[in-house]
Amino acid sequence: MSSFKELGLSEPILKALEGLKFEKPTDIQAGAIPILLENEKDFIGLAHTGTGKTAAFALPLLDLVDTSEYITQALILSPTRELCQQIADQIDLFNKHNRKLKTSVVYGGTAISTQLRDLKRPPHILIATPGRLLDLISRKSAKLGDLKYLVLDEADEMLNMGFKEDIDKILKSAPKKRATWLFSATMPSGIRRIVEKYMRPGAAEVKVSVGNETNKNISHEYVVVNNSYKQSTLTRFVDSDPKMRAIVFCRTKAGTQSLAEDLTRKGYNVGALHGDLSQAQRTKVMNQFKANRLTLCICTDVAARGIDVNDLSHVFHYQLPDDSSYYTHRSGRTARAGKSGISLSIINKSEIRKIRNLERQIKATFKEVTPPDASEILELNLSKWADRLLAAELPKGADINVVSKIATKLAEMEPDALLEKVVALEVQKLHRTEAPAERSDRGDRGGRDRGDRNDRGRGGNDRGDRSSRSSSRDKDRGDRRDRDSRGKRDDFKPAERREPSIKNSKDKTKFYINVGQRDEISRSDLLNFLVEQTGFSKSDFGDVDMDRGHSFFEVDNAKSKQVMGKFRGFSIDGRELKVNPDGQSFEDAPKSKKRKDSKKSESKDKGRRRR
Ligand code: AMP
Repeated sequence: MSSFKELGLSEPILKALEGLKFEKPTDIQAGAIPILLENEKDFIGLAHTGTGKTAAFALPLLDLVDTSEYITQALILSPTRELCQQIADQIDLFNKHNRKLKTSVVYGGTAISTQLRDLKRPPHILIATPGRLLDLISRKSAKLGDLKYLVLDEADEMLNMGFKEDIDKILKSAPKKRATWLFSATMPSGIRRIVEKYMRPGAAEVKVSVGNETNKNISHEYVVVNNSYKQSTLTRFVDSDPKMRAIVFCRTKAGTQSLAEDLTRKGYNVGALHGDLSQAQRTKVMNQFKANRLTLCICTDVAARGIDVNDLSHVFHYQLPDDSSYYTHRSGRTARAGKSGISLSIINKSEIRKIRNLERQIKATFKEVTPPDASEILELNLSKWADRLLAAELPKGADINVVSKIATKLAEMEPDALLEKVVALEVQKLHRTEAPAERSDRGDRGGRDRGDRNDRGRGGNDRGDRSSRSSSRDKDRGDRRDRDSRGKRDDFKPAERREPSIKNSKDKTKFYINVGQRDEISRSDLLNFLVEQTGFSKSDFGDVDMDRGHSFFEVDNAKSKQVMGKFRGFSIDGRELKVNPDGQSFEDAPKSKKRKDSKKSESKDKGRRRR
């Protein structure tokens, strides 16, 4: 099927699609639309985000719904408010030439009063999250008595998010004669149960196979680095591509937030999207990202589903997902609408087997790549700077005497020497491109040359990924993983301690930290990490003495009281970071507040997992 016209859609819709530059139907659209327009059978569409599935159900609905009367004929259930809003936005675009249609969007986390008012005049198409819909049904505001079409969008995700009971209630109460259209990326047993229980036998099924529609324009790549170089590896890739616009996936909300904060501190234009942010914060980030004002959007899997941006050059997997269907979902964020893109996993060497498994599961070949070279990045940035220099002009009204005064000051310098100084200044500015991020030698934990590393971000990226500082408010799958992992990650065993070789000086206090050579870092790496973490300057620190499992460092007495608080609640590679004044053993140290707090919030969150 090569055109929308051949699928049987009406003229006003074809006109809208033309305006939107939708030239050809995608596979799921070509498969689903003719069946759905027949309006006879139930339907199962197995398709991921990014395949054009929204249009696959929305376009036929627009042609099937009778707009002469204000009764709700179609219900679209979707897991999140962002997705609901996105569906409504797309319907608006498709419906551009048929103004009579009314759609309403209802979701939780926002005032119900506006929705109650809106539903007084029933919409033709109602788009809803399950929980809020039930609420509105119980208030007799949403009325499903005349429903003809019930669409379950991202059905697997709705089950993942704990909406099973709500969906059961809605499906039970909807009129039996309706058609049910189920769209899901995967077909777990919970979905099969819905199909068997609530759909008529013989439902038509269209599957967009992974490796075909979703992945055909995606280049799957991976880079192997030690965990502590993940962040600098990511920034290398970002620095090397001036047109980069990408989503970076983390598994937890805390990891997402921490990475976003680290990168912001380093001057990158990034935003975070995760379930601990308010709706207003998420909307703001989403809008900035859509408007191309952010280079990177750091997201959890579920939060990312609300992003509808078509021209992402890259998707980064800062942490691999557990499930290959999540990998496919994530990757499908790039290479959309016929474009190409790169899905790049930043992994450590123990994760190579996960890449092999993914290759088998999604039937794609993954290419190992190395991080871009620092000198290439510098050259690129300097060349961009030179272009800007050539194009620069004094603003109107600027005092021209300034130029002659500077010319007098620099008159002694040879042109070459002057240029060198100007470039040197720019190079200093550009020095945020940090530590070499090359692959570690497999099996050789200590064999790298680290002498000249200047990784300001080390440690910062991973510590938050594993730690869980979140208050777990919403229902996303990442939250649960986050909660489940609490208390299990602390695989730290107090290291054997040997006497430190640094001497106590009178004006400095000595501290113990459970980070050492086994973490594959050098003394200067550790010092940089301490500087980064405390916000103190290098000169506030004295000697740093490293052993295999731990180290000692000295801090000016004046600042020593602040030290412990700066490290509370962080972990590196899943190991809680411990910093104690020397002489106070690790076991004597006050228990981390974070752990107690997270336990508290964990139990508080039980019972409100779904809202
Ligand atoms: P979806 O999978 O529904 O989230 O759609 C992914 C993106 O692809 C959306 O931004 C759509 O606007 C866009 N899209 C859907 N179908 C087409 C098409 N046939 N041609 C071009 N873009 C499309």
